[in-house]
Amino acid sequence: MLLVAGSANLDFVVRAAHIPAPGETVLGRDFKTYPGGKGANQAVACARAGGAVTHMLLALGADAFAVPLEDSLQEAGVHLHLVRVADHATGTAFICVSDDAENAITVAPGANLALRPADLPSLEGFTHLLMQLETPMDTVLAYARAANEQGVKVVLNAAPAQHLSAELLALVDVLIVNEGELAVVSENQGPVAECLARIQVPCVVVTLGRKGCCARTGAGFLTQPAFDVAAIDTTGAGDTFCGALVAALSQGNDWPQALKVASAAGALACTRWGAQSSIPTRVEVLDFLKINGL
Ligand code: ADP
Repeated sequence: MLLVAGSANLDFVVRAAHIPAPGETVLGRDFKTYPGGKGANQAVACARAGGAVTHMLLALGADAFAVPLEDSLQEAGVHLHLVRVADHATGTAFICVSDDAENAITVAPGANLALRPADLPSLEGFTHLLMQLETPMDTVLAYARAANEQGVKVVLNAAPAQHLSAELLALVDVLIVNEGELAVVSENQGPVAECLARIQVPCVVVTLGRKGCCARTGAGFLTQPAFDVAAIDTTGAGDTFCGALVAALSQGNDWPQALKVASAAGALACTRWGAQSSIPTRVEVLDFLKINGL
């Protein structure tokens, strides 16, 4: 059983020929809202793609934007520990996607910034706590400390990229980063191996987009190539990967198997639009692995 503590945002997505330059107005098309936010995306991925019993601690405003976020999590079977914040709007993200698949994103974190150390529920029965960096750093640190004290494994996806204190890193069991985040966390611009050597966390997973992923684990250095898919929207691929990975680890899978399942889930998420809407089911992930001979 795992707990995700993190953000939920309603994504306002508009497609346009190009992303507007400062001062420019662009006529867009195909406006749609999607449930998003790294925490909520990863919780949906744990439950739907990973098939794990998943709880999520999140903060939402008392407004209409909160409704589709709660609905999406509940549809995926996530058990909610909801902090209702009266004086902040629900988190939102304004995303412009250009025809050449570039995007520009502005996040208004709103209620996500109101998640406080005192909001953590009892950790009894949980094996893993999964967090990201879209909630206040002092809250992330307090939750990591509580989990560590109670023998719950702390998994941190250090996104969006931020410097991490030595105090926080000492509490983390598994760190998941992409290449940009790896450079920020390791304070090094060199090759992946050089960056990894500078991070004192037992297990570190580095996702490399369409190049796959690698990991330094107790079982040694592992690599997993990406699966070949026709990618149309990579939004949510990283979150899907994180959720599916932690779900697999919490169910006792070994590292090579967990990386494989997470990569398959991440690849499938690239073949559909949106964040939570693109996350595959467990059956789809297992069928995909079967078709690919694994
Ligand atoms: P982030 O969005 O956090 O930067 P990545 O882009 O590294 O994360 O993607 C996370 C994982 O999703 C990758 O390690 C890979 O397994 C999978 N993935 C991402 N992009 C693709 C792609 N174009 N084709 C297949 N798999 C992909």
